[in-house]
Amino acid sequence: MRSFNGVTQVKKKSVELQSEPCKFRQTDQSKVVLNMADYTHILVAVDLTEESRIVATKACGLKSAYDANLSCVHVIEPLSLAYGGDIPMDLSTIQEQIHETAKSHLAEFASTLDIATENQHLIFGRPETEIDTLAQQISADVIVVGSHGRHGIALLLGSTANGVLHGAPCDVLAVRVGT
Ligand code: AMP
Repeated sequence: MRSFNGVTQVKKKSVELQSEPCKFRQTDQSKVVLNMADYTHILVAVDLTEESRIVATKACGLKSAYDANLSCVHVIEPLSLAYGGDIPMDLSTIQEQIHETAKSHLAEFASTLDIATENQHLIFGRPETEIDTLAQQISADVIVVGSHGRHGIALLLGSTANGVLHGAPCDVLAVRVGT
């Protein structure tokens, strides 16, 4: 009798599961698309290497798909952060040169993407922190960032994409670049 009951119970359960409404099937396709259309402001983070083009292409695809605004950001890591007190010399002149070079490279890059000057951001600091802070400030809905899909020790050490993802105030699209 017990095994009979057991079988009956299992059958009953499977019927209940089958009759459970499938959310995806029941949801109107157009509603799903509508939800995705929440993207109104995209922030693309560029390190101004060759790979930036791949990341920017994805960001532009999102921009056209959602008719959204597009902003871009490049973060300059202060030499003092990178080297601390290891180099006993005044780094301000070199830092100023780096800033000027980055400024013109960012402007050039942004103009190829049709990004207005006020949507181009050049910031000093740690990339992952500054990207997330800026996303918050400009109310970006999605950050587009490159990701190298690192393995082993490099993965343990982390990456900009990982850092951005962990502190992001919004969605993050990690675009696979390089190896
Ligand atoms: P990484 O993990 O440092 O190799 O960088 C991966 C991605 O993070 C790049 O493709 C950019 O999207 C972003 N990124 C890295 N460094 C910067 C930076 N200095 N400024 C803005 N974005 C950056």
